[in-house]
Amino acid sequence: MKAIVFDGTDNKLVDGVTVRDPGIGEVQVRIVASGLCQSDLSVVNGKIPFPSPVILGHEGAGIVEAVGPGVTMPSVGDHVVLSTLATCGQCASCTSGYPTMCRESFGKTATPFELDGTPIHNFATLSTFTERIVVQAGQAVPIPKDIPLSTACLIGCAVLTGAGAVLNRARVNPGDSVVVIGAGGIGLNVIQALESQARRRLSPSTRTPTRRRRRASLAPPTSSMRPRAIPSPPSVSSPTAGPTTSSIASAARQSPARRWTCSIGAAS
Ligand SMILES: [Zn+2]
Ligand SMILES: [Zn+2]
Repeated sequence: MKAIVFDGTDNKLVDGVTVRDPGIGEVQVRIVASGLCQSDLSVVNGKIPFPSPVILGHEGAGIVEAVGPGVTMPSVGDHVVLSTLATCGQCASCTSGYPTMCRESFGKTATPFELDGTPIHNFATLSTFTERIVVQAGQAVPIPKDIPLSTACLIGCAVLTGAGAVLNRARVNPGDSVVVIGAGGIGLNVIQALESQARRRLSPSTRTPTRRRRRASLAPPTSSMRPRAIPSPPSVSSPTAGPTTSSIASAARQSPARRWTCSIGAAS
């Protein structure tokens, strides 16, 4: 099958990549659509060190083609969104409602890919820049078939990360003030989740004019700031007064009131 293989220098479309059959608790999915995330680009430009050769991509959606022994869900023919979190479902973290704390979730899944007998690394326990993939059944989440897979694939990272941080991690309360630094794929989904929760104030910050327009179409902020145009007071207590992104991030990390801060992540 074909896949885009990053050899440490270039991404090349390669024919002849193989993926093994699904084992116990695994499924094989035909990839129909994949997003391109900043994390993929960060491997290419060296910001995220990662061994090569590797097949990148971790926002995928597709159709289940085969299931391994013991799999009860999903079924062959199901449309699925893929998740990077290959949680075990059995450890104390998983069974107590904290699957993101699962120690088996990341980086412990052996790659299913080979090229001419040589293993090719998988990325983020996925690798969606390929035609087929084998993952744990729990990583393939069934969705209604009327949802376009080209849209659904974004749930795999940008939506999950942005909306999940608002709804599950920060658990923002009505009336809370929120600073959103950057309005890319994740930031826009933070904004949408905040709007769905009818939060009172929103202070998205982005340097890119197109993103500012897109952000404004989603949810006009009650206040806004442009990181490079303003000086740097040391506190986030009055965001519109003009702190820089670095001073906000620093204050958030150092805040003694951790209940009030949630740093989701940052990509330059
Ligand atoms: Zn991502
Ligand atoms: Zn677990």
